[in-house]
Amino acid sequence: MVKEYVYCPRIAYFKMFSVYEPPTESMQYSKNLTLKYNEIVEIVNQNLGSGYSVFVEVFVKSKKIGVVGKVDAVAINSLEAVPIEVKLNTSPEKLKKIALHHLAQCIAYCIAVEETFKKQVNRFLLVSLEPRAVYEIKVGVALREFIYRISKEIDKMIAEEKMPTQTPSKRKCAACFYRKICIR
Ligand code: SF4
Repeated sequence: MVKEYVYCPRIAYFKMFSVYEPPTESMQYSKNLTLKYNEIVEIVNQNLGSGYSVFVEVFVKSKKIGVVGKVDAVAINSLEAVPIEVKLNTSPEKLKKIALHHLAQCIAYCIAVEETFKKQVNRFLLVSLEPRAVYEIKVGVALREFIYRISKEIDKMIAEEKMPTQTPSKRKCAACFYRKICIR
């Protein structure tokens, strides 16, 4: 729900209180990363070095921020865990300009990986397989604090059952499934 809340708090509210949204194309689309395992291992070896165990499509959970989800891949050695977010059909330029709501989800998953594997997460990899591109993003204090704040805001929204304000971006509203019940 972190991603939705950061994109528009009202979408998180509608989803949380069970206003049904049919699955979009991207929701239905499976990355099927077990078939890409060797490519991911190659990327890990080239960008992180050898000595990492690699797992794909990993379920993670954080009690601290109330997040449950599936991470595309995680590379683990004795010192750290490095989550990996894989994009299949994107350009390196688009990959680099990661949207804030997408970044927020990645950081929330980093916190969940840390809790699930009990390993420090200092960075994650944003990866495009075709064409090949890899960006490393540091998981610093400011990004963590941002997610803790969002998590508290979501908890408050749920506890109070109070509809949050609309996103100021009308561009988002134009393509939104909820616009008929949201904008009156
Ligand atoms: S219509 Fe706009 S404000 Fe309402 S939920 Fe959708 S994006 Fe958010």
